[in-house]
Amino acid sequence: MPDSTRSKRLLAAALLGAAALAAQAQDKVLNLYSARHYQSDELLYANFTKATGIKINRIDSDDPGVINRLKAEGAASPADVVLLVDAARLTRAEADGAFQPVKSAVLDSRIPAHLRDAAGNQWFGFSTRARIIVYNKDKVPAADVQTYESLADPKNKGRLCTRSGSHPYNLTLFGAMLQHLGPQATEAWLKGMVDNMARAPKGGDTDQIRAVATGECQVALTNSYYLARLMRSSKPEDAAVVAKVGFVFPNQQSWGTHVNVAGGAVAKHAQHPAEAVAFLEYLAGDDAQRHFADGNNEWPAVTSVKITGNPALEAMGSFKIDPLPIADAGRNQVQVQQMLDRVGYK
Ligand code: FE
Repeated sequence: MPDSTRSKRLLAAALLGAAALAAQAQDKVLNLYSARHYQSDELLYANFTKATGIKINRIDSDDPGVINRLKAEGAASPADVVLLVDAARLTRAEADGAFQPVKSAVLDSRIPAHLRDAAGNQWFGFSTRARIIVYNKDKVPAADVQTYESLADPKNKGRLCTRSGSHPYNLTLFGAMLQHLGPQATEAWLKGMVDNMARAPKGGDTDQIRAVATGECQVALTNSYYLARLMRSSKPEDAAVVAKVGFVFPNQQSWGTHVNVAGGAVAKHAQHPAEAVAFLEYLAGDDAQRHFADGNNEWPAVTSVKITGNPALEAMGSFKIDPLPIADAGRNQVQVQQMLDRVGYK
């Protein structure tokens, strides 16, 4: 090949490469840090890309992993959107300065204020889960466990089991109780629960449900979706657990049942803030709301959206929700942890 032809070809190849790079730079992308790993979420992300042309790069971790990674990366973090579960963790990340304020009329109108941070513009709940009471139907009358307060009642002595008091799911619930009852009554309540324990706190919520079924304990706290998951399971051993266990939406006669959220925020150092807001707004849409919540047997944060065809959620029915801002509960976690230490709630 003559030299001139060869150099022309090389030049052409170089130009092609440059064009490809330029096209890549114009491709819209979004870096998503997520602690959610559900099959149904994948479809959700694919639909977002189809609708907007924005590609999603996912970095999956568990919740502490996401929070630690954001902290370690600091200003160099490539994160655009952060998804976390539980207000305690969202509040913690917010306190770390991991998020930035968002201005969005869509989010303002769709996501209820009590499911957001205190200022209402940093993190947004996209699905809700209730912290419910489960009990062994053979051994405990439902009347004994109608409220969170009842868990500390002497009539439930030797019956209770829970996961660690320091787990975010409990910290946020206890933080809500602190708002409702005040510090003295809340600490007495926590002490009463310790006195009623059938065993030292251990395991996750599903372990508590199973322990209630076997009779190792008789009353427990769990997030609603763990029970719903067992209700939808085709395994005979799960069906046997469900048959033994009754559940209560607590405090229906007073302030309502505590609900928590899985939520999202735009990362402080997002390189693609417009795409990040577009993604959060997409999650607040009707279809995405249904998928996001139903994928983990939760309820949509947008109250006008209803899930149909989920037999467990249908069986659970509707209930009165505690309207307390979830951010108020989340920011009480430090004070709650001090109480837990004092009363010996591990
Ligand atoms: Fe969970």
